[in-house]
Amino acid sequence: MKRVFNFNAGPSPMPLEVLEAMKEDLTNFKNTGMGITEISHRSKEFQDMLDETKDLLRQLMHLSPDYEIVFIQGGGTMQFLMTGYNFLHTRAAYADTGVWAHKARNTAAFFGETYDANSAQDKDYSYIPDTYDIKDGTDYLYICANNTIYGTEYWKFPEVKVPLICDMSSDILSRDIDFNRFDMIWAGIQKNLGAAGVALAIIKKSLLETARTDIPEFLQYQTFVKKDSTYNTPPVFCIYTLNRMLHWIKNMGGLKAIEERNKVKAALIYDVIDESGGFYRGHAEKDARSRMNITFNLANEAMEKDFVEKAKAHDFIGVKGHRLVGGLRVSLYNAVTPEAAEALSQFMKEYERVNG
Ligand code: PMP
Repeated sequence: MKRVFNFNAGPSPMPLEVLEAMKEDLTNFKNTGMGITEISHRSKEFQDMLDETKDLLRQLMHLSPDYEIVFIQGGGTMQFLMTGYNFLHTRAAYADTGVWAHKARNTAAFFGETYDANSAQDKDYSYIPDTYDIKDGTDYLYICANNTIYGTEYWKFPEVKVPLICDMSSDILSRDIDFNRFDMIWAGIQKNLGAAGVALAIIKKSLLETARTDIPEFLQYQTFVKKDSTYNTPPVFCIYTLNRMLHWIKNMGGLKAIEERNKVKAALIYDVIDESGGFYRGHAEKDARSRMNITFNLANEAMEKDFVEKAKAHDFIGVKGHRLVGGLRVSLYNAVTPEAAEALSQFMKEYERVNG
């Protein structure tokens, strides 16, 4: 069986050992004689798996009992809508660090006033602003922890008096941070934690109490909490992949160990960029560099195209930048191995030697 080096930005790789172990569950989950996609979401087997998934999240994130955890279909884009619909009563602040935060703001604008608490647009989203302009009567500040397209990541979170809502889609459980400082964290699982098709939302009870209840039932976070994410048929398989990934993270030694591994991987690539004398030009400012998505450019588009083609010929997949910004992007989510990062760093050095 041939496996390539997969640096896709999401969906993205899962650990081979997890995929291998899933095979058995596809035909016979927990000795039910049914595969995971065949069991009922009202069965004890599903409920046990759901409970365990929430417990694992609580353990790994050291979450206080003040939080509810729910699983919702519709990906990240549904969360742009639900955060605004549920929590925007008067006005909401958004940190403008790029496309995904901006999309969230635009969607929330259907429900009330939205404004940018800051913006990194002036430098092409290459940094994370560290001041916040919060107007009176603001319901929440919304940030995007890791900007998948630009390759920037927060290393210092805002200290503000309003509730803090954070999109962690592209760096959730990649590092050991204080998750209890957020009022809400949500994340699509398709990058660091499993198969595309579900987002997890972790909501502080005090924020949940402020959620609107005069909106369609299915779009209320309260509904998902009250019905334990099974108001309707949940994405059983996606939740199962999340469960498997959480076990894997735990077996790897938890978030501290995962963070160390991710540091090593990112350093391998950033070192090549920094030592290339400008052959590779990193997009993000150094103190805002993402460990998950490394964005950089070559001298011109033709060379970038050539790099992508040569990389592909060597089984390095997914290194093309996002279509909105071009350039190159290497995503190093949890399941990407240090060996894959090492192999790519060698390829980059060789490419520079030949073309530099
Ligand atoms: N937020 C972030 C940080 C993302 O990277 C993405 C998608 N790449 C989204 C939100 C949107 O997620 P989805 O495609 O699941 O709607």
